[in-house]
Amino acid sequence: MVARPAPYLDELNPAQRQAVEALDGPVLMLAGAGTGKTKALTARIAHLLWTGTARPNEILAVTFTNKAAREMKNRVGRLMGEAVEGMPWLGTFHAICVKLLRRHAELAGLKSNFTILDTDDQIRLMKQLIVAANIDEKRWPARQLAGIIDHWKNRAWTPEAVPAGEASAFNSRGVELYAEYQARLKTLNAVDFGDLLLHMLTIFQAHDDVLAQYRRWFRYILVDEYQDTNVAQYLWLRLLAGGHRNICCVGDDDQSIYGWRGAEVGNILRFEKDFPGAQVIRLEQNYRSTPHILAAASGVIAANKGRLGKTLWTEAEEGEKLRLIGHWDGEEEARWIGEEAEAMQRGTRGLNPYSLDDMAILVRASHQMRPFEDRFLTIGLPYRVIGGPRFYERMEIRDAMAYFRLAVSPDDDLAFERIVNTPKRGLGDKAQQKIQTMARSNGVPLVDGARLLIESGGLTGKGARELGKLIAGIGRWHGAVLDARESHIELAERILDESGYTEHWQNDKTPEAPGRLENLKELVKALEEFENLQGFLEHVALIMDNETEEGGAKISIMTLHAAKGLEFPVVFLPGWEDGLFPSQRSMDETGLKGLEEERRLAYVGVTRAEEVCTVSFAANRRVYGQWQSALPSRFIDELPEDHVDVLTPPGLYGGGYGAAAPMGSGLEDRASRADVYNSPGWKRLQARSAERPVSQPRESRSMVIDAEAVSAFALGDRVFHQKFGYGQVTAIEGDKLDVEFDKAGPKKVVARFVTSADV
Ligand code: ATP
Ligand code: MG
Repeated sequence: MVARPAPYLDELNPAQRQAVEALDGPVLMLAGAGTGKTKALTARIAHLLWTGTARPNEILAVTFTNKAAREMKNRVGRLMGEAVEGMPWLGTFHAICVKLLRRHAELAGLKSNFTILDTDDQIRLMKQLIVAANIDEKRWPARQLAGIIDHWKNRAWTPEAVPAGEASAFNSRGVELYAEYQARLKTLNAVDFGDLLLHMLTIFQAHDDVLAQYRRWFRYILVDEYQDTNVAQYLWLRLLAGGHRNICCVGDDDQSIYGWRGAEVGNILRFEKDFPGAQVIRLEQNYRSTPHILAAASGVIAANKGRLGKTLWTEAEEGEKLRLIGHWDGEEEARWIGEEAEAMQRGTRGLNPYSLDDMAILVRASHQMRPFEDRFLTIGLPYRVIGGPRFYERMEIRDAMAYFRLAVSPDDDLAFERIVNTPKRGLGDKAQQKIQTMARSNGVPLVDGARLLIESGGLTGKGARELGKLIAGIGRWHGAVLDARESHIELAERILDESGYTEHWQNDKTPEAPGRLENLKELVKALEEFENLQGFLEHVALIMDNETEEGGAKISIMTLHAAKGLEFPVVFLPGWEDGLFPSQRSMDETGLKGLEEERRLAYVGVTRAEEVCTVSFAANRRVYGQWQSALPSRFIDELPEDHVDVLTPPGLYGGGYGAAAPMGSGLEDRASRADVYNSPGWKRLQARSAERPVSQPRESRSMVIDAEAVSAFALGDRVFHQKFGYGQVTAIEGDKLDVEFDKAGPKKVVARFVTSADV
């Protein structure tokens, strides 16, 4: 023991200290969100090092993401007040297993320079095997086989170990194909992601000496987010910890959200059986969220059956209730969140100003990000997308935009280059060079160079045929743009179909393909807000140009899955509608498994918030160009009333949008406003807000003022108008106000269309 007092212990409560100081033997920290599990785990690493109990390379610490690993390492250094040199075994399961497998590749029949296949390669390989086995690839797609094999690997089943009960998989040929696939990987000196762990597990099982060596090496094992480990990971950990049993796992059964990827919440529940005599430490004090937010989250998760159940309490100040707001449609929701974020940034809500870095928007599915990105780009609100590129930077979006650009201007050479062989048209580098040369020597754009090349016989065969089709397509699409009779939305869809681009992704069986197709649909949806393709392209070009990647504060947008373990002072949770969240699939399923996992996801979402949490839903969304109405999510009904404030939707007071669609506007198929607001879900919300009228003056929030409350305005008041934004009242005339708007200048507005934005 070192005589210097450990600086990190003072920051911990007694239960956490217990978890930190119980260095030897198995420890399970099973506790709810925000109770300081990750903090205690980090302090435990610091303690191992500080007390000289272990050297950095003797500690195996598993995190769920690479980002979490980096953060944990930095924090250990900070806790100890000194930089930590080398923590080679702090990382995700995958990162750790790659390193191990490189050392022992030969035991898995590989060379140490093996390649790791990405999903594209993996699917291509499976496709070959399926075709070779004379199986109809259309009926039995490679993607499905990939899913099955992945599932087996997650369960730690090698081909020999797949149980008989699974033999019917993939037209009864699954196991056989799995064995062939593994054999092919070996000849290719390659592994897929699932192999990284499975190979190491198999090696440990078959080679006692190797296992013994690592048991000696990894004297202390720590695992964060234990509830999301799959069977293979679990067995691997159990083997490694089997000797010294110095393993500390932390997790929360209520936050198990990767069941769809083979995670087994049972692993955490079984810990005490696996490691008899384990110290089980429960943390109950939540340090993250205000009481209202915590109570709201607890209320939702309480609807799940078969939980361990936990008490959570906090000493935090009461703070604001969880805020709930319904919107007319998805665009209004995005607009509102943008304005709310700006208002919070300025501190106009009567609260301290928040930095954009303090705010996050958490969505159920990544295609939901698009309306927010569009809105934020338009109003110039800096944002970042966590866990993926921003919408207009995505590959499929850039490809599709290149097609649109060619339709508007066929001589756009950059666009032509981008898509000439996307999807594959059999035009390799050589053919593309020929096109370039032909164009350059004739001083014409690439598309014309390509035509000349074919006419001169400089390109023949399949490549020439496909290129010819592309050139003809560009000509037709351009004609349609000039002619302008076809709607630009239909044209855009036609371009993506005729070019084979949509089909390219439909045939692609990688796990990413469905998401890319969703994004393409989302792109077409974005077009609806513009008059023609050209206007849209200009819009995107301008907003992308405005993009400065400088360091300033940004609001974060990410999926709920990506938000695990993170926290933000301000959290927006949009899209709480049945069919979106919970997902349609989970609702269609028999049994409650899927739905309960969605509910845990809701719990994860709400518990990310420290101070302000806003749940919202839209009564209408455009799906495939059709308006569809949706009901508020069933999870909204589960939010305990006492901890929820229902905000009044801006549209309800005629703030400028959402009035009944005029006949012939093409919007009649929207559910009428009355339909939506007569829905049971909405009525319940209204009933709740009626019990605690929204107009009750509260310092911290802007109020919705109705016609009778005109007198509430005085000269000089700060007000907010849906269309014109923020401004100051300069004159009052009956129910009309003169307002000097910050951005829109002086306007006369009807008082009931304005809300007070006074601090
Ligand atoms: P999750 O389940 O979401 O992963 P968690 O249990 O891992 O949450 P942490 O992220 O470790 O919780 O901690 C939540 C917040 O509480 C952090 O901001 C952390 O710094 C703070 N915190 C944790 N323990 C204490 C403590 N003893 N005193 C003060 N603050 C604490
Ligand atoms: Mg954590």
